[in-house]
Amino acid sequence: AIHEIVRKMQPLADEKHINLFFVKQESVIIRADIQRIKQLLIILIDNALKYTPGNGVVTVKVDGEFEKNKIRIMVRDTGIGISLTDQHKVFDRFYRVDRARSRDSGGNGLGLAIARDIVNLHDGELYIESKIGEGAAFIVELKK
Ligand code: ATP
Repeated sequence: AIHEIVRKMQPLADEKHINLFFVKQESVIIRADIQRIKQLLIILIDNALKYTPGNGVVTVKVDGEFEKNKIRIMVRDTGIGISLTDQHKVFDRFYRVDRARSRDSGGNGLGLAIARDIVNLHDGELYIESKIGEGAAFIVELKK
């Protein structure tokens, strides 16, 4: 099902000349609200495409064997990255790192707040691995 979501984002990636990859180890079935997980992935992939310049790479990876009772979904990009200070703030409602710059890429700073709500609703975890200028990875851990 996740593959389908990634496929739907392909035209947006093409438009920006970004390579969008889907990597999957093995099929896993989890107990989750599929509509909400879909919304969560769209937010993360949409952001990755938004904050990655042309010719960049966005990779969506699903790891079902990462821990016995957990699966991990990672959305990684080669974009502008997020500083450590901002990593603590981007999940806040209406927070945007660079208001002036992000204005023309649209959005209102709600996406990641919603993403965090969805993950919390599933009793999961959502965190960032990033360095400024070196891309960002959003990691979701959900119970199997
Ligand atoms: P929208 O509500 O449409 O998603 P938004 O992208 O501004 O708008 P969030 O998704 O909540 O809002 O993201 C908050 C801020 O976090 C963004 O404005 C951006 O500065 C930063 N951000 C989010 N994802 C990334 C990313 N993949 N790389 C770099 N910065 C990011």
